[in-house]
Amino acid sequence: MKTERDLVIIGGGAAGLAAAQYGARANLDTLLIEEMAPGGQALLIDRLENYPGIIEPVNGYDFAETLHTQAENFGAEFLTASVSVLKKEGNFFHIETNEGNFTALAVILATGAVHRHAQVPGEEEFQGRGVSYCATCDGPFFKNKKMLVVGGGDAACDEAMFLSKLAEKVILVHRRDAFRAQKSLASRVLANPKIEVRFNTVVREIKGDTKVSSILLEDLAAKKRYEEAVAAVFVFIGSDPRSALAGEAKRDEGGSLFTDDTMETSVKGLFAAGDVRVSPFRQIVTACSDGAIAAHAAAMHIDEVRETA
Ligand code: NAP
Repeated sequence: MKTERDLVIIGGGAAGLAAAQYGARANLDTLLIEEMAPGGQALLIDRLENYPGIIEPVNGYDFAETLHTQAENFGAEFLTASVSVLKKEGNFFHIETNEGNFTALAVILATGAVHRHAQVPGEEEFQGRGVSYCATCDGPFFKNKKMLVVGGGDAACDEAMFLSKLAEKVILVHRRDAFRAQKSLASRVLANPKIEVRFNTVVREIKGDTKVSSILLEDLAAKKRYEEAVAAVFVFIGSDPRSALAGEAKRDEGGSLFTDDTMETSVKGLFAAGDVRVSPFRQIVTACSDGAIAAHAAAMHIDEVRETA
């Protein structure tokens, strides 16, 4: 595999895949490095129904496969590898992976974010035994049982809706008295007879023997703790950006990368797209948009570097 590239994209979620397509189409020698199967968080979506132009809901896996094929058809190359080092020397970025080292004139970081943990006793112990961060993956194991969802954003509401089709009942607990989720979604959750919403409620402990059997909750308004029997606990309380490779690039207090409106970070030639960057709204469509803008700007940056070299 060629090691000197114009553009290297790290991360193969929607942002990275869109960047790969736009990079290759702009005639850049484009390599996308992803440690797992391309698709990122889109792979976990059961029914993608809000991507503009797609009226019939599609499965996230199928959608990701389409993005992947489209990028490959335009000439982007893909490598399954884990990146350990990214550093800039002069005009070049050096990228070290477990499958060899590469150089590039521009890099797009599209490494996404990882699910935040609730950090309560029992959470780590029962992970994979009733504690889950993926409803599509694990929901079917708890069919016709009582399940609990933690969180108040789009992810918690979306996943509670999905789980309500499988569960005997879903209890959705949120630490505040109002959802953060988009209004239309929040209204559907509140109107769903199989979902019981408990606001001002936090998780104190997840209990069980070999698997989850109950959860200790606290009603913050009544200042009362109580135990609830549940078979599974799904945690959707946001995520933390995977920005460790970005070196000196400026970040906000949560670690998300600041970019300008061309998706360039504070390091020249280093771009960020999707969930790893500071953004007011995180959707597949915005991730794809970030990727397209970043690839376009990377092409301009590469032209500039070549003209001044
Ligand atoms: P989010 O929007 O950041 O919401 C996280 C939720 O978890 C908030 O309600 C927050 O409470 C709560 N929370 C945070 N830390 C907590 C803790 N330690 N204990 C208890 N609760 C805690 O995250 P998200 O729902 O994962 O969504 C992330 C992004 O993806 C958003 O931009 C969202 O729009 C997007 N997304 C969109 C869709 C869709 O369009 N269908 C689906 C999934 C995700 P507070 O409200 O009190 O802060």
